[in-house]
Amino acid sequence: MSIAPDTTVVLGHRFATELPEIALRWQAESAPDPRLLVLNESLAAELGLDPAWLRGPDGIGLLVGTRLPADAEPVAQGYAGHQFGGWVPRLGDGRALLLGELIDTDERLRDLHLKGSGRTPFARGGDGLAAVGPMLREYLISEAMHALGIPTTRALSVVATGRPVQRETLLGGAVLARIATSHLRVGSFQYVRTAGDLALLRRLADHAISRHCPGAAETENPYLALLDSVVAVQANLIAQWMLAGFVHGVMNTDNMTISGETIDYGPCAFMDAFDPKTVFSSIDSFGRYAYGNQPAIAAWNLTRLAEALLALISDDQDRAVELATESLQRFAPLYSAAWSAGMRRKLGLGNEVDDTVAQQLVDELLGMLESERVDYTSFFRGLASGEIDPPFEVWAARWRSLDPDSEAMQRANPVYIPRNHLVEEALAAAATGDMEPFHRLLAVISSPYDERTGYERYAEPAPENFGRCFQTFCGT
Ligand code: AMP
Ligand code: MG
Repeated sequence: MSIAPDTTVVLGHRFATELPEIALRWQAESAPDPRLLVLNESLAAELGLDPAWLRGPDGIGLLVGTRLPADAEPVAQGYAGHQFGGWVPRLGDGRALLLGELIDTDERLRDLHLKGSGRTPFARGGDGLAAVGPMLREYLISEAMHALGIPTTRALSVVATGRPVQRETLLGGAVLARIATSHLRVGSFQYVRTAGDLALLRRLADHAISRHCPGAAETENPYLALLDSVVAVQANLIAQWMLAGFVHGVMNTDNMTISGETIDYGPCAFMDAFDPKTVFSSIDSFGRYAYGNQPAIAAWNLTRLAEALLALISDDQDRAVELATESLQRFAPLYSAAWSAGMRRKLGLGNEVDDTVAQQLVDELLGMLESERVDYTSFFRGLASGEIDPPFEVWAARWRSLDPDSEAMQRANPVYIPRNHLVEEALAAAATGDMEPFHRLLAVISSPYDERTGYERYAEPAPENFGRCFQTFCGT
């Protein structure tokens, strides 16, 4: 690792300093022939980084982790997790590094993190690498989520490394630079809890409170307030996923953040036809992480977080369980409230419409969408402009009688999402060196609510021969 001559980038090392027990000092592997494939210029500006500098050799060196400011302390983070329900006491960043923290233009702390930067001591059997396709995929989908207003980690760049990566075939390697308000996960707490060091657990919780819910520190029981806060942000997040038709695909506890940001875009995808059983991931054989299961899985994961926090919540075990249970019980009503409010927005219903009426209308609609196998996203957008399929006429007459606000609906229902066939098309072209379809799709999904002429095919569902059997792969 050489030292970048530019000293304007200041990388903090708060996580590494405050939590050295779960921060393993490590360095990125060299990239033999780094080539910047995509740079998020607006995000760079938000982070106070000069896009022109990032495009130069020192900038690219930062984005692959080989040229860091002199005082940087890159680390692989330790965490545990339940993967598909099975306990794994030691996961950690096997192919990722936290380079450090940046202070953005709003004075907020943001993690600069790399994925695909080489093997770490947490790599187990993995090669520590990532291929170009999956990293571009994470870039596209996380930026689409951001543009839809859904809390998410962000993608700053993808750099092709020039290092081959062996998957089913030999692929080009890449490093994704990811920005997050932190990389603390439910699995971080599980890891520390299992180590049995209560002082460390308290330090981790204090770190999380300071970064994500500073108000909790002022309450009577800060660690209970931390749990309350994670329950609330996750209830909101999962409601937003459900409203957008997003299937995360691998909701293991190591992939659930304390911040409430969506993280780890592996086998995720947007649902086409509305169907709660929708699963894309090739390894999710039992449908554990199906679209319709996501709220229940989130509650299950939060229960694992609560268990990890119990010893901090009260010295009296029974009292701790009682308090944590009350906190967890708030997930369902918070989720329902966020989801119902979102459905009202999607249907353009004002506050004067009675809750029961709205709820019944939504339930009936979802039942029909499922039985008619209607494309979820385009149905709602079409409704906003008065396009109604014949089977929905009777329902629509009742809906219209509630005087829906079609302009509000255009702001709540996207025209463009990263549809699976479009993403695949963009990635296939990128694999041959043609980045044009990727950039065109990125431009479209970055303004999802603004309908543009000439982009009709980006709003259309997948052709019949594509949609039904589409699978995503975890071997990213
Ligand atoms: P994920 O399914 O991406 O959340 O990853 C689960 C765990 O596997 C994490 O500990 C990752 O760091 C690790 N992992 C995934 N892919 C690789 C790889 N190619 N090399 C090393 N570790 C990996
Ligand atoms: Mg993960």
